[in-house]
Amino acid sequence: MGTVLPEVHAHYGRVRNYLDGAYADSDAPRALPVVDPATARVIAECPCSTKDEVAAAVSAAQAAFDEWRETPPQVRVQPLYRLKALLEENYEEVARIVVQEHGKIVDEARGSVRRTIDNLELACSIPSLMMGETLEDGGAAGIDEEAVRQPLGVCACIAPFNFPAMVPFWFWPLAVACGNTYVVKPSEQVPVTQQRMFELIDEAGFPPGVVNMVNGDRDVAEALIDDPRVRAISFVGSTVVARLVYQRAALNGKRVQCQGAAKNFLAVMPDADLEACIPNMVSSFYGNSGQRCLAGAVLLAVGDRADEIVERFTAAAAKIRVGYGLDESSQMGPVAARKHQDRIVSMIDAGVREGGTILLDGRTVKVPGFERGCFVGPTVFDHVAPDMTLAREEVFGPVVAVVRVRDLDEAIRVANGSRYGNASSIYTSSGGAARAWKYRVHAGNIGVNIGVPAPMAFFPFGGQKESFFGDLHGQGRDGLAFFTDRKVVITRWV
Ligand code: NAD
Repeated sequence: MGTVLPEVHAHYGRVRNYLDGAYADSDAPRALPVVDPATARVIAECPCSTKDEVAAAVSAAQAAFDEWRETPPQVRVQPLYRLKALLEENYEEVARIVVQEHGKIVDEARGSVRRTIDNLELACSIPSLMMGETLEDGGAAGIDEEAVRQPLGVCACIAPFNFPAMVPFWFWPLAVACGNTYVVKPSEQVPVTQQRMFELIDEAGFPPGVVNMVNGDRDVAEALIDDPRVRAISFVGSTVVARLVYQRAALNGKRVQCQGAAKNFLAVMPDADLEACIPNMVSSFYGNSGQRCLAGAVLLAVGDRADEIVERFTAAAAKIRVGYGLDESSQMGPVAARKHQDRIVSMIDAGVREGGTILLDGRTVKVPGFERGCFVGPTVFDHVAPDMTLAREEVFGPVVAVVRVRDLDEAIRVANGSRYGNASSIYTSSGGAARAWKYRVHAGNIGVNIGVPAPMAFFPFGGQKESFFGDLHGQGRDGLAFFTDRKVVITRWV
């Protein structure tokens, strides 16, 4: 624990915007500190860009659109291939920046960069993905009918703090490969990784204006949503904001997809192979210190093995080595900011107040050498009732609520009682139980003996209920449909 001393990193300075193929310093009078949550050191500053700067980014994207959409798809993907190669070369450096501004352990950061690259690979397949459909004599003899896909124009994304490298890449590579131009707004809490990404994007050689970045907080997001030239918005963040963004973008006549918060249920059946499932659950609940929209949050201990499940799970959780993310021996880093630490601790307090039995208490964890870090240790509550705060509200931290249920039906009822529906998993050796879970649980991502059911880039990704507002999900063919308009052409020559 804490055997590696904090690395003294360069101060990354005030992050810059990237407009029209060049870096631009923001004139914003307001800026926010970017803080390494392990050391509490300020490592950069994020300007809250002005409305004019947002408008300039959109203007650059708008000006680049006509030429870019007329660029053949197989040419459009060339800078994406180069960017993939650059990211592979700079993989370790990007992962280490993620750790510094977010706190997660370096292996998790590496995994997130790998997922970032996966999305670039998907976008590189656009020449075949984007092909249309044709039917000769589709209307009548001699009349051919074809459906083509065309890009929309300027699109934009608004990103959350928990995956500084990956989330913007769920959207912009596919959008740009389709022939759209783009504006990225990173999270103001973690803008440094995208700053490095845009240096690589610059090196990859996109034409000016095709991909732009503008930094800031809510005001920048709202300016993008309100700009009539922006045709589509992709948002990832909390449900409160997702709903606001969905409503505001829809009122402005935009295409919009908003991924929101989560409360994910993991059910363990009495016939589960505990030897295999306990480590898998531990990584679901505590990976990324619980700050992952697919992280387990409620452990549904089903039937008469509940005591054994809780005991073995708690013993495994207690062994997690909490420490500095750049120390390769750490198994869980700090949470991403002091405000998150305070909120998580207050939710643990609420769990105690509401009568949960606390078996493992992460509030007092200490990491030698990192006394000012935002650490919360693995926490386990037993005997949580489905109506208690810990079973209902998103904690977004390393806190597990065990709800004991009689049987599979009750487990499904409790999971479906949640207002969220991002992910849900079952551990079992019964095909029938697994099938019932897949069929009956309302969640966008289902795991069977897998605690983090994260779809690969070629599958759609999104939740249900209050975890998602919109129609088309991110990634895969949903992403393709989101970033293109369909047009049908009916032709007769004779
Ligand atoms: P957040 O909602 O606070 O912020 C997300 C983004 O919205 C930021 O870029 C922020 O600047 C911007 N923003 C804030 N207020 C706004 C407003 N009123 N109008 C427009 N934009 C606004 O979320 P966060 O704390 O950065 O991220 C954590 C949340 O994200 C968690 O709830 C987590 O579950 C969720 N999340 C969901 C998914 C998913 O796929 N469903 C993935 C990752 C994270």
